[in-house]
Amino acid sequence: MSGPELVPTIGLEIHVQLLTRTKMFCGCELEFGAEPNTHTCPICLGHPGTLPVVNEQAIEYATRIAVALGCEVAPRSIFHRKNYFYPDLPKGYQISQFDIPYGSDGRLGDVRIHRVHLEEDAAKLSHVGESGRIHGSGASLVDFNRGGTPLVEIVTEPDITDPAAAREWLGLLRTTLRQLGVSDVNMEEGSLRCDANVSVRPAGTEELGTKTELKNMNSFRYLERGVDAEIARQRAVIEAGGAVEQETLHFDPASGTLTPLRSKEYSHDYRYFPEPDLVTLAPSQADVEAARDSLPELPEQRRERYAEELGLHPDAARLLAFDADLAEFFESATAAAADGVEAKAIANWITGDLVALARESELEPAATSADPASVAQLVGLVASKQVNRGGAREVLAVLVREGGDPVEIVERLDLGASDSGELDAIVEKAIAEQPDAAAKVKAGEGKAIGAIVGVVMRETRGKADGGEVTRLIRSKLGL
Ligand code: ZN
Ligand code: MN
Repeated sequence: MSGPELVPTIGLEIHVQLLTRTKMFCGCELEFGAEPNTHTCPICLGHPGTLPVVNEQAIEYATRIAVALGCEVAPRSIFHRKNYFYPDLPKGYQISQFDIPYGSDGRLGDVRIHRVHLEEDAAKLSHVGESGRIHGSGASLVDFNRGGTPLVEIVTEPDITDPAAAREWLGLLRTTLRQLGVSDVNMEEGSLRCDANVSVRPAGTEELGTKTELKNMNSFRYLERGVDAEIARQRAVIEAGGAVEQETLHFDPASGTLTPLRSKEYSHDYRYFPEPDLVTLAPSQADVEAARDSLPELPEQRRERYAEELGLHPDAARLLAFDADLAEFFESATAAAADGVEAKAIANWITGDLVALARESELEPAATSADPASVAQLVGLVASKQVNRGGAREVLAVLVREGGDPVEIVERLDLGASDSGELDAIVEKAIAEQPDAAAKVKAGEGKAIGAIVGVVMRETRGKADGGEVTRLIRSKLGL
């Protein structure tokens, strides 16, 4: 059946582990990958009678995040207890913020930020053996090292309209957080975790449809694919005459399927109440101003600088500036480049061929074997006409696969452009071989030059620079 077009609305909720030395409310050190249950104490294990103390560094980082996202920082906010039972939460509640978040009403790119609040992480559960049966061989193990890690939760307004935009925006957020130096923002290790709220509604209407929540998409690709699958599922439900139910779903990237985890709970289910053991957070105006003044160059500003000062194409500037790894790669490459090698040329090689070659091996460009200095060197070889574009692309493919020295690769694969004396002779021979074409070019038939260029390329096995060959032919024909 065909009704009105159903348009998606996406909002994201992101949990960011802060890179503080110690936990949110106790002195236990944070160390990713440490032996399980070696960084615990009575406070983060939820023993009775213990008292939490706020980590000042976490507050400082939260302030930095809030101002970088253009939020208002609340002059006074408190912590609440969010009550629920789960084996990774020994206290029976999570300390979080509720009615007044630390920061609110911000914006990043074209997405509004609803709130930024502070809370603590739960412990880490791992499931081993066969699960799903009572008395089965399966078991769940708890590592309390992660319990009590400082978290900032960032909630967007539902301003995102397609899965690719969600992925791009998460990249922008990740880069922003990385520039701030407040987190590792590593999705695989869980220091950046993303949930997505997804709904669809008939085009032209205002009221949002019933949303579902997709939990823990632990990579950019899964986020895009998961949201895409959920939009398709909701459209199918509605088009079949059904109604979307509010629920929490898990996306399995291997099968591409969505399975319900639980029906969505509402905030009143958590029996939030003020945490009586912690004082009110009251950052001074001076602290907030100081945080604002000390912000580093953020992706939006970086994009502007790349476009305006370095003259990059707007798309290249955006692609580089919004992706932390790519921006770092580009910055290192330009820093390593020889004099006279243009940043613009380096940017074009990175955003064009390098990104494409990396994608073929399903890698991020920065994760391939090509290092920034070698790429810069290769761009220099092209600029000085020691290798032409086609040859350079072959060299880049080798760099991506196995790394190495571009000069050595050019020699090994015999990709060096012919030296000018040799090229001169080849061009003269080509003109002699194609007298008709030469006459036509002289008579103003520009296209006829192709036949002569073709001979030169055959003779040089494609290594000559096309522009250079054309220029030489024309000058030899007295044009
Ligand atoms: Zn502790
Ligand atoms: Mn949370």
